Amino acid sequence: MSGMRPTGRLHLGHYFGTLLNWVAFQSEHECFYSIVDWHALTTQYTNTKEIKQHVFEIALDWLCVGIDPDQSTIYVQSAIPEIAELHLLLSMFAPHNWVERDPTLKDLVKVLAANEEEAWEKVSYGLLGYPVLQTADILSMKGELVPVGKDQEAHLEFARDLARRFNHLTGVDFFPEPKPEFTATPSLKGVDGLKMSKSYNNDIKIADTDADTIKRVKQMVTDRTRIAKADPGHTDLCEVPWPWYQIFSKDLTKQVKEECESAAIGCVDCKTRLATYINDYFAPYRAKRMELAKNPERVLQIIEHGNVKARRVAKQTISEMYDILGLFNWSDKQ
Ligand code: ATP
Ligand code: MG
Repeated sequence: MSGMRPTGRLHLGHYFGTLLNWVAFQSEHECFYSIVDWHALTTQYTNTKEIKQHVFEIALDWLCVGIDPDQSTIYVQSAIPEIAELHLLLSMFAPHNWVERDPTLKDLVKVLAANEEEAWEKVSYGLLGYPVLQTADILSMKGELVPVGKDQEAHLEFARDLARRFNHLTGVDFFPEPKPEFTATPSLKGVDGLKMSKSYNNDIKIADTDADTIKRVKQMVTDRTRIAKADPGHTDLCEVPWPWYQIFSKDLTKQVKEECESAAIGCVDCKTRLATYINDYFAPYRAKRMELAKNPERVLQIIEHGNVKARRVAKQTISEMYDILGLFNWSDKQ
């Protein structure tokens, strides 16, 4: 089980950090992939009008890279009210200091406002509960493996601890303890050398055009000590293009290293060549995306079909949970 927030089109960090695993896991596991729109509200609650369109864009991004609706369940979080119900039930078992010490939240607070007090005022009750809601997403489907990027490691630890705590306190081995799964590139850098992120304006989108991609790649930070083209470069000091060559063209790395370190090629030419590799790699996905975008009804059908399947699983989980807790199980009677 894994999910993504509909806060914008997906970038190559999502592709190399998570979607590669998502596609690979489809033939080995039963997969649930969720567009988590309630999670988008935790930070976008003053700007909700675009979320619906982003749900659609994310579905297109997933489908074009090979998430197969015949193999995987693709659904939207808000279509499964039982996830909200599970969030409420789990919140009773989640110690408040566990959510307060969430390192992802602490990082976010640093960028929300200039001073800490003002920033904490922007942290809603819902945002504080982010890891509990994420745990509800995973456990509603009884998720065991969670393919995510490195920045989600702490949230997964939280989910594991909460599952274990519920099992321990109820004395029933009910929830699996979900484990993160990483790709070989669990934290892809953006063009500025920081983690590629939708919110940092440093990303290359799966859906970008060739021209957008070339423009972005040219902004990549290279070897900061190399001033003139005639100066020999240092691949070990090259911040972004060099690690990216390892992803796109490993057999070319020997040649790139030689050309760079003998100043046979400048950074601009080197980046132009890299952009070509990126564009060639993504060309089939981009073409498929344009085809899929012509048929929005089909995309909606895929989501609706997934919603029905995911809801069935979530209802079962909730029903079993009421029995474990010894509460009335009203769902049995409705
Ligand atoms: P935002 O800036 O809105 O937080 P984001 O770009 O960080 O967006 P998310 O929707 O938070 O993207 O992340 C979705 C998934 O993609 C998560 O599993 C996350 O770990 C992974 N991911 C995001 N960025 C990267 C990256 N640069 N490298 C590897 N994995 C990534
Ligand atoms: Mg993020």
